[in-house]
Amino acid sequence: MFLNYVKIKLKSMTKGFQILKSSKELFEKLKILAISASYDNSCSSSGSRRETPAYGIEKGPLSVIYHTWTADGRCVPLLKILLTNICRNSCKYCINRRDNDLPRVSFTPEEIAKLTSEFYRKNYIEGLFLSSGIYRTPDDTMELMLKAVKILRKRYHFSGYIHLKLIPGLSKELIKEALSLADRVSINLELPTETSLKVLAPEKSFPLLLEPLREVRELYENKMVKAPASTQIIIGASPDTDKTILSLAKTLYNKKMVRRVYYSAYIPVNRDPALPAIEEPPFLREHRLYQADWLLRFYGFDLDEIFEVSENLDLRFDPKLAWALRNLHFFPVEITKADYWELLRVPGIGPTSAKRIIEARKYGPLSEEVLKNLGVPLKRAKYFICINGKSLITHKEEKALKRNSFHFFTNLEIKNSQPVIMIFL
Ligand code: SF4
Repeated sequence: MFLNYVKIKLKSMTKGFQILKSSKELFEKLKILAISASYDNSCSSSGSRRETPAYGIEKGPLSVIYHTWTADGRCVPLLKILLTNICRNSCKYCINRRDNDLPRVSFTPEEIAKLTSEFYRKNYIEGLFLSSGIYRTPDDTMELMLKAVKILRKRYHFSGYIHLKLIPGLSKELIKEALSLADRVSINLELPTETSLKVLAPEKSFPLLLEPLREVRELYENKMVKAPASTQIIIGASPDTDKTILSLAKTLYNKKMVRRVYYSAYIPVNRDPALPAIEEPPFLREHRLYQADWLLRFYGFDLDEIFEVSENLDLRFDPKLAWALRNLHFFPVEITKADYWELLRVPGIGPTSAKRIIEARKYGPLSEEVLKNLGVPLKRAKYFICINGKSLITHKEEKALKRNSFHFFTNLEIKNSQPVIMIFL
C-alpha cells in the first residue's frame, strides 16, 4: 500500500521537467528525492495552498520548487531537494525512515550543484533548500551537503540564496562551515516534548537537537552569523496540545535559540500504532498556530491569554478574534486615544494599521473615512472600535454581538481569515 502511494506520487510528478529529460538518471533521482523533501516545510509555503507557477514544472504541493516570502512580501522560488533519502534512523512519521520499502537514491554533490545552477540560470529558482536523510554518520552526510554547496558557490559562482538543514549530531566545525556557506540554516526539533520524541523518533533527543541551535545562537551573539537557526515542529503526529507547542516556541524565541519556528501539519504517510489515524493533515490547526505565534511575537499577547479557556486553539476563529470575543469588556477601543498595544488588540488592526492610526492623529481628527483612507480593514475592526465615543456598527448589531459574540461572528462571512501564511526567509 505504501509503495503504491509512492508510485502514484512519482507518476504525478513526471510531467513538465523538460530541462532534465536529457539526463534520465538524474531526472529519476529528482522525482524520488523531491517527494522525500516535500514533507519538510521549514522554508516552504506549506499552509498557503498557493500553486506553483508553471515554468514547465509540475504544479502542486509535490513540486521541487517551493515558494517562500521575504519580509517585504516578495515571493522567492527555491529548489527543494534531499541529498539522499537513505536514512539510518526510523522516525515513525517520516517517509524516509529506514524500514520503509521505497526506492533509495542519492545525488552526488556535483549533481546537486549542476542541477541548482541550471535551474538558477533558467530563472526557475532564486535559491536552494538542501536537506538529507542520515547516510552513515551525521558528519559524513553533512560533509557531502557542504561539498555540493562549495562546488555551487565556487565552481558555478552561485550567488543565490542557500538554506541548509543541519543534520542532528553533526560536529561544531561543520556547523561553522555550513554557516559560512549558507544564508540560513535550520534544524528540526520535530516534536514538542522529549516524551513524544522517545515514542516517535527514538534515535533523537532534545539535547541532541538543541545543541546545534545553541551553537548557532552563540555564533549569532558573537556577530559571526546574521541570524539564529530556524526549526520545525510537526503538528498532530503526537498528542501534544497547542499550548505545549507554543510554550516551547516561546521559550526558544525568548532564549534567542531560533529566528523562526515553522509548524508543519502531520501528513500521514506511514502506518504505525504510535501514529494517529487521520485522513487529512491538520492544515487549519497549523494555520492557527502560525497566527498565535504572531500574537506572541508581535502583538504583545501572553500564552495564558491565548489559552485562557482551553489548551488547544479554537479552530473556528483566528486566535486574536477568539480572544476579543471572550473579552468584550475590553472593547470598544477608542481609536482617537488608544495606545499602540491597545490598538493591536483590535481584530483587523495589525502593526501597520496601528502605526498609521497613531501617526494620523498628529495631523487631524480621525473619522471612518480617514481610517478607510489609511487602509485600516474596517470589515472586522468596526465591531471593536469607536471614534470619539461613537460606534461604527448599528445598535442591533451591537446587541447581537453582546448577546452571543461567538454565534454572531460564526454567522458573519468574515469569521475565518483564509489560511494564507506568510513564510519569511
Ligand atoms: S532522521 Fe530525518 S530523514 Fe531520517 S527518518 Fe528521521 S526524519 Fe526521516
